[in-house]
Amino acid sequence: MAASTGVIRRIAIVGAGVAGLAAAHDLQKAGCQVTVYEAAPQVGGLAAGFKAPHWDWTLEKFYHHWFAGDKDMFALIGELGWSDKVIFRRPWTVVYYKDKFQALDSYVEAVKFTLRNFGLIDLVRFGGVGVYLKLTSNWKALEKHTADSWLRKWVGPRVYNAIWRPMLVGKFGERNLEVVNAAWFWARVKARTTRLGSFEGGFQRFLDALADNLRGRNVDIRLDTAITGIRRRDDGLTVETDRGAETYDAVISTSSPALMAKLASDLPDSYSAALRDLKSMGAVVLVVTLDRSLSPYYWHNLPKEAGFPFLALVEHTNFMDREHYGGDTIIYCGDYLETDHEHFSLSKEQLLDKFLPAFKRFNADFDRSWVKDAWLWKTAYAQPIPPVNHSTNIPPLRTPVPGLYFASMSQVYPWDRGTNYAVEIGRRVAGMTLRDLGLNAPQR
Ligand SMILES: Cc1cc2nc3c(=O)[nH]c(=O)nc-3n(C[C@H](O)[C@H](O)[C@H](O)COP(=O)(O)OP(=O)(O)OC[C@H]3O[C@@H](n4cnc5c(N)ncnc54)[C@H](O)[C@@H]3O)c2cc1C
Repeated sequence: MAASTGVIRRIAIVGAGVAGLAAAHDLQKAGCQVTVYEAAPQVGGLAAGFKAPHWDWTLEKFYHHWFAGDKDMFALIGELGWSDKVIFRRPWTVVYYKDKFQALDSYVEAVKFTLRNFGLIDLVRFGGVGVYLKLTSNWKALEKHTADSWLRKWVGPRVYNAIWRPMLVGKFGERNLEVVNAAWFWARVKARTTRLGSFEGGFQRFLDALADNLRGRNVDIRLDTAITGIRRRDDGLTVETDRGAETYDAVISTSSPALMAKLASDLPDSYSAALRDLKSMGAVVLVVTLDRSLSPYYWHNLPKEAGFPFLALVEHTNFMDREHYGGDTIIYCGDYLETDHEHFSLSKEQLLDKFLPAFKRFNADFDRSWVKDAWLWKTAYAQPIPPVNHSTNIPPLRTPVPGLYFASMSQVYPWDRGTNYAVEIGRRVAGMTLRDLGLNAPQR
């Protein structure tokens, strides 16, 4: 242990997102002196929230929920003694098919959907693929194929073209159909559940409580403090900010891969090139509050070819009660897009003009006078794109620069990104850092 040798190790973490905070939790417990640098004015990263003055709860900028199997997240929450704050519900997810919204979020609904729209042969193929993906752990065999070719072959063209192709095109764009591997699809089927969870008060309340808990244990969390460079020196690693530079025994970065390649100029070209080769989609999410409900469902999957201007409409207040938000109905209009897409440059007002006419397709009575307020959130790094044989492309958490570690959404593969995997990778990189420093990881 650091304390028992008398030497307190100093560790810097770049980013107070879920991964950075989870890493700080274990490093502090092992006796290290931890400083977390965060460019934004709040903790939470992609899972961060915001709050209108009349709301009691915070709302995630980008829609978020947990699945029942998110064991790393619930283990951390359990250690902190906050399990009673986790709320689980069974909200409804529907897909738009044949001009109507149809439920497709459980085995029973999938059977009904397939029999209603197709037939027995399609049901056997669809069901067989679903059961196979749920039971197999052999994702390495699946990553050799594109999701497009594998699903078309095994589910058959009718179900594939009706459900999975629109979902893949919506999430990754037409041109990435040739890229995204079938292990990505496996991870979704394997890990997802019908019951969905959140934290009492919203994700931001959880993240703020975690940050306060860390501060109470002398972790120094510096908000509004962007790291501008990380350099190797004889006596450790120096992190640079506009306010000066400080030297640490180890540095863990949880930024995007592209930013990491820029920040750490001592990385060898091969590692920086591997970082730059990790591709991802951005996200544009418009949050609209209404004075009444738009739809009875929570999540609406929308095929682009049906002419919707966004990929998903999420009525959050069909998941968490509207009373927590001053009676407002909360609607997310979300989309994953390349960062050169027009929507990245449009203003909130321009996107409202583009999106609101589509609300009539969810409720024919919708009128613009129902709209109370709106917020627009964008991020360039939202969804990693895993190509065929992706396991060979992933840069290791331990970089070639001694003492420098990198842990991001792009490395939780074969799992898809998510706060559960951010906790897992944050704790994994913390354990690796401690071992390299000759320290023991804390007992869990
Ligand atoms: C649209 C969308 C929907 C999602 N839905 C879900 C969901 O339903 N459930 C779920 O569990 N997950 C969901 N996720 C994924 C989840 O948000 C992420 O997997 C998770 O938050 C990643 O955490 P992280 O700490 O790895 O990275 P981030 O959250 O990206 O944290 C990195 C942090 O580093 C900071 N940073 C960057 N550069 C610097 C710098 N130079 N100096 C200092 N700080 C810096 C950033 O500001 C940020 O706070 C969703 C994500 C998106 C985009």
